[in-house]
Amino acid sequence: VEILDISVPVRPGMVTYPGDPPVVLERVRSIADGDGYNLSRLDFGLHSGTHVDAPLHFVDGGAAAESLVFDALIGPAVVLDVTPAEGAIRAVDLDGLPSGAERVLLKTSNSELWARASFSPEFVSLDAGGARALVEGGVLLVGIDYLSIGDEEAHVVLLEAGVVALEGLDLRAVEPGEYQLVCAPLKLAGAEGAPARALLIRDGV
Ligand SMILES: [Zn+2]
Repeated sequence: VEILDISVPVRPGMVTYPGDPPVVLERVRSIADGDGYNLSRLDFGLHSGTHVDAPLHFVDGGAAAESLVFDALIGPAVVLDVTPAEGAIRAVDLDGLPSGAERVLLKTSNSELWARASFSPEFVSLDAGGARALVEGGVLLVGIDYLSIGDEEAHVVLLEAGVVALEGLDLRAVEPGEYQLVCAPLKLAGAEGAPARALLIRDGV
């Protein structure tokens, strides 16, 4: 069994979406400074790094992070190669998706953007038509390898349908194909999103 960690490290100075709060991860107790133990505090936007969007992110009154169901977050997943897509991922770019796929991770040219020190506005993401195609196909979760699954309309299409958006994945080392996805967002009560650890597991390797 091969386990691939597709989460990005959370650290001060990490690339975040423009306008999001900066990431603060700092020691507030330190053995080196004479305290009996080390202890840190974390202060960051919930959409930093690898995270899920709950419906509440774009649908006022929608479901919050703690009520996302593991049926969507854990199970067979397809990593779909959409690296040729430029700008938007449209319905036509999703033609290669096997029918019945419930969890889809979009591997785009974005993953290479993680190597950069600052946010790259030219990232690829879903347009509303692409989002609609996924909803109509019965997808429960859709992931992407940068900080936004799509434009505002695409977000609304997915989140109104109860599809979990998994953003901020690092798929650089992942070959397209079939895996088991394990995605465990923090159980944040009432929050519109939550940081998550995301893993892909491949059998028989
Ligand atoms: Zn988000």
